[in-house]
Amino acid sequence: MDKLKDYFQNIRYASKIIFAASKKYFIFKMLLSILSSVLPYLPLFLWRELINALVDATFGEINSFLNKIWWIAALYCGTMLVQRLLDTVSDYLSFKYNDAIDYYLDNVMIDKVSSVDLAFFDSSDLNDKLNNSWSLIYSTKNMVTFIFDMFQKAIRLAISFSLMITLSLWLIPFVIVFCIPSVISDGLVNNLDYQFEKEYAKSRRKLEYYKDLFFEGARSEVRLYHLSEYFSNLYKLVWNQWDKAIHSKNIKVCIVNMISLILLTVNEIIIYVLSVARLIAGKIEVGDVAYYVSLLAQFRGDFTSLCYRINTFSKNSKELSDVRTFVEMKPLLEKGGTKVPTANPKIEFNNVSFRYPNAEKNVLDHCSFVINPGETVGLVGLNGSGKSTIVKLLCRFYDPSEGEILIDGIDSREYDIVKLRSLFAALFQDYVKYSFNLRENIALSDLSRIEDDAAIKQACDISNVSDFTKNWDNGVDENLTRRFDKTGKELSGGQWQRVALARAFFRNASIILLDEPSAALDPLAEHQIFEDFSKISKGKSAILISHRLSSITLADKILVLEDGHIIEQGTHRDLIEKNGRYAYLFNLQASKYV
Ligand code: ADP
Repeated sequence: MDKLKDYFQNIRYASKIIFAASKKYFIFKMLLSILSSVLPYLPLFLWRELINALVDATFGEINSFLNKIWWIAALYCGTMLVQRLLDTVSDYLSFKYNDAIDYYLDNVMIDKVSSVDLAFFDSSDLNDKLNNSWSLIYSTKNMVTFIFDMFQKAIRLAISFSLMITLSLWLIPFVIVFCIPSVISDGLVNNLDYQFEKEYAKSRRKLEYYKDLFFEGARSEVRLYHLSEYFSNLYKLVWNQWDKAIHSKNIKVCIVNMISLILLTVNEIIIYVLSVARLIAGKIEVGDVAYYVSLLAQFRGDFTSLCYRINTFSKNSKELSDVRTFVEMKPLLEKGGTKVPTANPKIEFNNVSFRYPNAEKNVLDHCSFVINPGETVGLVGLNGSGKSTIVKLLCRFYDPSEGEILIDGIDSREYDIVKLRSLFAALFQDYVKYSFNLRENIALSDLSRIEDDAAIKQACDISNVSDFTKNWDNGVDENLTRRFDKTGKELSGGQWQRVALARAFFRNASIILLDEPSAALDPLAEHQIFEDFSKISKGKSAILISHRLSSITLADKILVLEDGHIIEQGTHRDLIEKNGRYAYLFNLQASKYV
């Protein structure tokens, strides 16, 4: 029952998409579908008239034949002409309409992906599917255009049905009974395809992966370790398994198809025999035989293809359900209130606990601390102790499961979320290397000032980007990466990091977050980054996360995290004097540099 409900909801949803994508094309396509459903019946009717007139002519009624032949020929030519014209218009319309649907779906998905809670990307199955491929969008597009097909087939079926009643009512169930095996076989074939896809999706991913290793993933190691034979053997092995499986699936499909075709042919022969018997009995004329045989063939074709479409739609319904569930999903994170934060607020974590969606235990447990305006706070702890999670909660990518985050004494949920986030500039570990020009790479943190050359220059100077860009012909308008520009500049890891730092600085935010930005750098480069950082964070609040504790010593306050608990907090000096966990970690690292 639920499946049926889901099925109809998907039909409604697909119809909604095609209508919203372009109302104009929708109406045109509907009109064309109706016209192209009706038109094919006219030639059938004309053939019947022509054959009957020919038979009459052989019995001497030549004048009646000559009278009829003109209007039959004129109508036939006119119909064919209109049909071809409609086909051409329909093809053109389909191109335009498909583009409009593509554009609409892409936009719906882009809007949703950018507004959905970050939590969605962490844990949900749905994200895996959506993440795996935008190809889901393309199958959605195919599905929605299917609706027109179904509509067209349904009209044609209704017309054939009403015309066949004039011959004999009992023929209809007779034809349907013979069609059923073909419908069932289509279901079986669909099922076989689906099972095959499911089972062998992994093999396909493996094949892609092995190919990627040659082209991108392991170019150097393939050469150095002489891995090409090993990888290509892996590729061949998976390919052979895949080939064997697809072969046996194809044989099964052929057998199922053959059985259903034989049954359809038997049905056709029986109808021929029955029609000729009625002709001999004088119940119908010769033209009627041709007319009814063609009509029945049409009915059979329309009935089976409507069933095929219903089958296919239900097979792909799962994908459409996924897209529908995603698009209709309401954000869990409330958008927040309307309060606007002050320029440099005091931030307080008040007994904050947090558990990721679907996780089994809290990653932060009753954490309390304060960041006063202008204060730099260092977060220290082993991997997985919860440092980055604190940063994510601050930016309100998530809300605490318990406790509250206060901004100037008011719960952060009461603030306008966009205004709240505008307080922060961040340099995350996984900062983005945009294939845009340098200006855009820097100004993406505050696009309203993208043309402000002085501010861009200042950001470049302070983050030392200017050091490596001073000789560039096009200065900040030089494209980065060669993805879209053969002469684009390729930067080293450290240089990209500086660009990301410039972006963080350009935002002119009052709180700066640095989440292990230097994880991949050597101590000297890290030292430089933190020096730059202390320049740009003057007068601002800041949170620093680094594994290299020597970089953290400059913080006004250090929080030591262990398993989601804050086990120590104080200045570097306090914590060293305390001789606890921080002092242990610090001394351990220091001893390595001596
Ligand atoms: P740190 O920054 O100290 O290395 P994190 O705050 O990144 O630690 O992670 C704390 C814990 O939360 C880790 O056990 C990590 O596996 C878990 N975690 C981090 N992100 C997610 C997530 N998106 N979903 C579920 N668990 C997560």
